[in-house]
Amino acid sequence: MQASEIRALFAVASRPEVVSLAGGMPFVQALNMDLMAETVSKLLRERGAVALQYGSGQGDVGLREQILEVMADVKVSAHPDDIVVTTGSQMALDLVTRVFCDPGDVVLVEAPSYVGALGVFRAYECEVIHVAMDDEGLNPIALQEAISTLAAQGRKAKMLYTIPSFHNPAGVTQGQPRRAEILAIAQRAGVLLLEDDPYGLLGFEGEPPAAIRSHDEEGVIYLGSFSKTIASGLRVGWAVAPHGVREKLVLAAESAVLCPSNYSQLTISEYLATQPWREQIKSYRELYRERRDALLESLEQLMPPGTTWTTPAGGFYSWLTLPNGLDAKAMLPRAVTALVAYVPGTGFYVNGSGHENMRLSYCYPEPDRIREGVRRLAGVIEGELEIAATFGTGSALHSDSGSDSPGSNVPAPNLQ
Ligand code: PMP
Repeated sequence: MQASEIRALFAVASRPEVVSLAGGMPFVQALNMDLMAETVSKLLRERGAVALQYGSGQGDVGLREQILEVMADVKVSAHPDDIVVTTGSQMALDLVTRVFCDPGDVVLVEAPSYVGALGVFRAYECEVIHVAMDDEGLNPIALQEAISTLAAQGRKAKMLYTIPSFHNPAGVTQGQPRRAEILAIAQRAGVLLLEDDPYGLLGFEGEPPAAIRSHDEEGVIYLGSFSKTIASGLRVGWAVAPHGVREKLVLAAESAVLCPSNYSQLTISEYLATQPWREQIKSYRELYRERRDALLESLEQLMPPGTTWTTPAGGFYSWLTLPNGLDAKAMLPRAVTALVAYVPGTGFYVNGSGHENMRLSYCYPEPDRIREGVRRLAGVIEGELEIAATFGTGSALHSDSGSDSPGSNVPAPNLQ
């Protein structure tokens, strides 16, 4: 496990005068805190002795039944017994990797991929191989190529980790035919597909995308979370897995934490049972769509030519590509001096790629702050381009200094 070299910089970046487009924190202030307080006080009055006690390693059975209802919105059907409740889906990622992967096992991930998952795969000494994406997410041709290249070496990937909806950090979404294609490739190759879906209900238009697991259950473990749809601080997520796998996940969970927090689980359970949670998710969607629009409109107005970015249809992130070989990581100190922060693209790769990229999060700052952040960022990029035009080199031009040992760029946990 390694700390990030940019961790110290983010201590500065979290000062209030800095517009942070870096962190992926849900805007939980949008919750009705009076309703939340009522929920918690009712829970403690009526079921306090259960809420404050140890519970089952697999998670509360009532909550597992309610999770089925939530997952119906992404067309996943299961039995409550197939669900393991975890301390956020981050823990589910850890458990699945612990159960399936030995040191040296190959895990296929998107290029780029979620920094917290890369950290888990590295902690279990997996070999991570990035597979190219396009505007529709993971590219099936590139996936087949990666699998074939491994086969030619007499090797096989253990797992394919994918975020099909509203990707972190790329901001793209797989269409349904593509999901079916990716699943068919993984099944043919006998590669376990780990589907991570914390943002699936946070689409800005139409129905939530049906999960990959809705196409076929065989060989798919599905991960869900209440972090973005209700509250990240409660730390409640889950995994849906076939019976034999589920048993192992529970054993692994018990050895890590005995049981997930009963208090958190029953708070979520009470909330789902008594509050208009679909309305709450709808208001989150509207809030994030307004922020997404503020980001995209100001990028359109202010970014110098040659800068490109993805157009997210949901979730929290857009992935920006800098013009003329500028290096987002080298540029970050200047950006922070100009009072704007982002996460450099290198953090989302294990192989030193991503220098010309950055992740921009629009989930947390108010729309006006987002516009101001983009204005500052555009100024920094323009400054770098001027230096490059005048001196033939910008302070933030990509240099292969060799300082990027694989995986040394993972941002601090609070930026995930
Ligand atoms: N997967 C992805 C893709 C995420 O973006 C996150 C949080 N940022 C997680 C998993 C973990 O979420 P949690 O543990 O809060 O459920």
